[in-house]
Amino acid sequence: MQAAILRDKSGSLKIEEIEIDKPDRNEVLIQTVASGLCHSDLHFIDGSWSDFAMYPMLLGHEAAGVVQAVGEDVVGIEVGDHVITCLSIFCGHCDRCLTGHSYLCSHRQEVSDRPIGKPPRLIDGEGNAVNQFTGLGSFAQEMLVHQNGVVKISPDMPLDRAALIGCGVTTGVGAVFRTAEVKPGSTVAVVGCGGVGISAVQGAHLAGARQIIAVDLESQKLEWATQLGATHTVNPNDGDPVMQVLELTGGGVDYSFECIGMKQTAEQAFGMIRQGGSATIIGMIPIGVNIEVPGTDLFLGAKRLQGSMMGSNNFKVDMPHLCELYLGGRLKLDEMVSRTISLDEINEGFEAMINGEVVRAVIDFGT
Ligand SMILES: [Zn+2]
Ligand SMILES: [Zn+2]
Repeated sequence: MQAAILRDKSGSLKIEEIEIDKPDRNEVLIQTVASGLCHSDLHFIDGSWSDFAMYPMLLGHEAAGVVQAVGEDVVGIEVGDHVITCLSIFCGHCDRCLTGHSYLCSHRQEVSDRPIGKPPRLIDGEGNAVNQFTGLGSFAQEMLVHQNGVVKISPDMPLDRAALIGCGVTTGVGAVFRTAEVKPGSTVAVVGCGGVGISAVQGAHLAGARQIIAVDLESQKLEWATQLGATHTVNPNDGDPVMQVLELTGGGVDYSFECIGMKQTAEQAFGMIRQGGSATIIGMIPIGVNIEVPGTDLFLGAKRLQGSMMGSNNFKVDMPHLCELYLGGRLKLDEMVSRTISLDEINEGFEAMINGEVVRAVIDFGT
């Protein structure tokens, strides 16, 4: 099958022919129908997270497809089912899993990869194992994934829209619903309006926030955010974004969400909240970068600074619900797909992301 492989820090992916194994006992073989391009993939391509790269590497983790084959121990997923994959692959028996926090599974390595001694799932043309990013690897015509990284969805759900739920939408909406638990009538600021930020804006809208302030340097992204639920916009080119948000709200928002992954914007997100508010950091802050906030704000202002990993999801439950919200016309996904590309055009797709031209570019595998 064809796959886009990352071989080194060169900054681009190479389309190669690789071999995929048959499903082991707990595995599901999926024909990939669509895969979104996510910033987390880009962090490996541009080298900012290269310390965690394992070459050759198959990136891609925001995908949906159709089940081709299942292992003998797979439960509830059958050949022909439409599915979304999720990188929050969980073991199901650690303390994190058993207390409802499977997105933080402490034994995920046991299930995301095959046990040592077993043949690799993927082999390149020279016979070397290819590493699946996050246990998935969706920039390929087929995926072989542990059943705890796969969820069945309604066949009514278009798979090129379902793919977005696989990462960006679950991350953004989940941070609002699950991590921060935004209340109706509250005020929200979202810093960074790419795929995750736009999803957080939509989550805040669905949660009934009365004021949703989108913050971004790109006026096009602010326009998209407005179409999808933002009530106000702030462009840092027009002045200090923290001051602008404080003015718009008369003292700060109840909840802020940082969806970029930078020290400066994370600290700004904290600066935007009112007393008793919470700032939720969703972006992938680079390794070794520390965030500084005034300590007295935590005590005297009772402000909270928290992280959110993959929207604190229970994806086997959440993803079918998000599909329902889409099918009911309440979660907007069509508007988030700015460009559809083929696998061959993947490097151009990432280029468009870098240039801020897209909310999401989605690979259509033409199946
Ligand atoms: Zn992602
Ligand atoms: Zn676990």
